[in-house]
Amino acid sequence: MNQVPTVKLNNGTLMPRLGYGVWQIPDAEARQAVGTALEAGYRSIDTAAVYGNEAGTGRALAASGVPRAELFVTTKLWNGPSHAWDRDAVLRAFEDSLAKLGLDHVDLYLIHWPRPMRDDFLTIWKAFEEIAADGRAKAVGVSNFRPRDLERLGEVSALVPAVNQIELHPLFPQEELRALHAELGIVTEAWSPLGQGKELLTLPAVEEIAARHGRTAAQVVLRWHLQRDNVVIPKSVTPSRIRENLDVFGSELDAADLAALDALGATAAGRRIGPDPASFDV
Ligand code: NAD
Repeated sequence: MNQVPTVKLNNGTLMPRLGYGVWQIPDAEARQAVGTALEAGYRSIDTAAVYGNEAGTGRALAASGVPRAELFVTTKLWNGPSHAWDRDAVLRAFEDSLAKLGLDHVDLYLIHWPRPMRDDFLTIWKAFEEIAADGRAKAVGVSNFRPRDLERLGEVSALVPAVNQIELHPLFPQEELRALHAELGIVTEAWSPLGQGKELLTLPAVEEIAARHGRTAAQVVLRWHLQRDNVVIPKSVTPSRIRENLDVFGSELDAADLAALDALGATAAGRRIGPDPASFDV
């Protein structure tokens, strides 16, 4: 079985450096997919209230027989009501996620999007402070926060997010945020680490490195993340790919490989795939 190395979060909690993302997996299929991942050796699962699969994920966790202490479960507070969140609504949404997952705590709870136009993430973060203090989330963090959002949080709270989960892959390397995270002691977690399995995995530069190392394009991209200290949560429902994406701890890219992948962000293909946090709201 593969052993996934961990990173220590700013409150001492250990987080696996590679986990399994479950966005777009229907609830009815989550038990099977998450079960396959747990069998393969994944211990970290990344879900969210809006994915609608917390219940299926919870069923897979319960059926797996893996001791709770060995699991690392992340979920996220959705953008939620059309009005701004208040404290009680945040706590109710958190309890709803716990109930669906069938857990008494999660390992990481994230604010899914900053929605700066709502101006409510400071209120949300105050509720997250309570959730962290009572241990129902071992760590709390944010997702899709920009430098200015992190700075605003820092003005009102001494609690530094443990993690910022952001879109990040060689075509969108997020250098500014990564540098700020390093300065603030925030772990960078990459969503869509494979660029959603699209253009990135077919680029000649990626294919050439993969062929030379006898690895797949996905494994090369995941190695780039790991050697750049990003936590990754690739998603697949195909059992062979689920295993392939975990089998990335037995090889290393060299400095020239890393530099070639770093250079992709500045090419014509280099761009964001997902929404822009400055304007995204639902
Ligand atoms: P990803 O980069 O993990 O790509 C997944 C897709 O890549 C798969 O659907 C499949 O088509 C392909 N793929 C997977 N493994 C492959 C392999 N070995 N070879 C070839 N193709 C392969 O994209 P994602 O699902 O968008 O992101 C991963 C996880 O990040 C999500 O499941 C979710 O947990 C999280 N996420 C979070 C946010 C956020 O706002 N916080 C947004 C998007 C995703």
